[in-house]
Amino acid sequence: MLHCYVHIPFCRTRCPYCDFFLVTRDDLQDRFFSALREETLARSDELAGRTIRSVHFGGGTPSLAPAGRLGEWLETLAGRAVLPADAEITLEANPEDLSPGSLRDLASLGVSRLSIGVQSFLPLKLASLGRAHDASDALRATRAALETFGNVSLDLICGAEGETPGSWVKDLELAAGTGAPHVSVYMLTLEKNTLLEREVRKGRCELPGEEAVAGMYTAACELLGERGFLHYEVSNFSRPGFFSRYNLGCWHRESYLGFGPSAHSFVRRNGQELRSANVRSLIRYMGAPRSAVEQSERLSPEEQRNERLFLSLRLSSGLDRNFLLRHHEDRDAVLAGLDRFRREGLLEEAEGVVRVTEKGFLFADMIAEEFCFSSQKRGADDACGSGVARLADKH
Ligand code: SF4
Repeated sequence: MLHCYVHIPFCRTRCPYCDFFLVTRDDLQDRFFSALREETLARSDELAGRTIRSVHFGGGTPSLAPAGRLGEWLETLAGRAVLPADAEITLEANPEDLSPGSLRDLASLGVSRLSIGVQSFLPLKLASLGRAHDASDALRATRAALETFGNVSLDLICGAEGETPGSWVKDLELAAGTGAPHVSVYMLTLEKNTLLEREVRKGRCELPGEEAVAGMYTAACELLGERGFLHYEVSNFSRPGFFSRYNLGCWHRESYLGFGPSAHSFVRRNGQELRSANVRSLIRYMGAPRSAVEQSERLSPEEQRNERLFLSLRLSSGLDRNFLLRHHEDRDAVLAGLDRFRREGLLEEAEGVVRVTEKGFLFADMIAEEFCFSSQKRGADDACGSGVARLADKH
């Protein structure tokens, strides 16, 4: 069983808050897709005989890619691995790229799920986020995607400039009212070296404070819960049966291969676990796609346990209590920590499973930090910190 991620590194422009790996030129798509094919052929051994459970086209803006090139890549994949008809194939899309024609093309390739970067349904908020689409694009694209696919996820951001608790609830209601069965809620974060970070630093833009944003997150949990969504991961809400198979696979630490510049892979082989990252340069990637891996590391048993700890505590399915107690060097500290978080209403336990409560989701990384398996100082580095979750989130 294997999952695949493909990083399509093209956007029309860079949004002011975004620090993803991407370029804003369109003339390199042909060379990129040729390189992607080369990389995939070079990794035939890793694909041979494997059954693909999910493919995720992320980016960047995969909906900018010509459908024919996406289809060719899927054929290359299907020639080297088993790609069943019921594999989940997700494409991240921006609303301005979606028309009835493009949606039909994507469906005919086998794309089965769309993840739409609407971010908001409110005109002022979309303008403050510097998005290329407007509110009517967001609504039109969502409705059209639902007609073609049914399996549609909406990305929403909270914490934009000028956003109030009231306007956020309105945004959530509009999103829930579309009928989309999956919603991802992200808190706007200030990433280094972005335009937004510079504007905030210079005092030209003021974002809602941490407490206000935490309140918005809590409001999302409540409203989406009332509308029948299951809160299955810190940022993800789904109607029954519409969980992201790809994301769940990553969070459950199933093997995945990442293709394209900056993509990450995680592979279990012969009892070992390996993480690797492709080169973060499109030019270097296209120059040598057969040797795209730039970094790789073999995870120590302690790193493996920390990854399981951090990722499991972000999920509603939780973590086996015995796993914590069996491997931890300080059993008494674990028991005391579990007791304290339970009394604070952040953790609950049932049938040997420890899971965060609705209130605890907001503190999942902090809670995991408390239980981290490490002889090093807690929080000192990524082996024991939320870097694990960041790595798995972003690919
Ligand atoms: S469209 Fe998405 S990936 Fe592209 S710049 Fe904007 S936020 Fe980043």
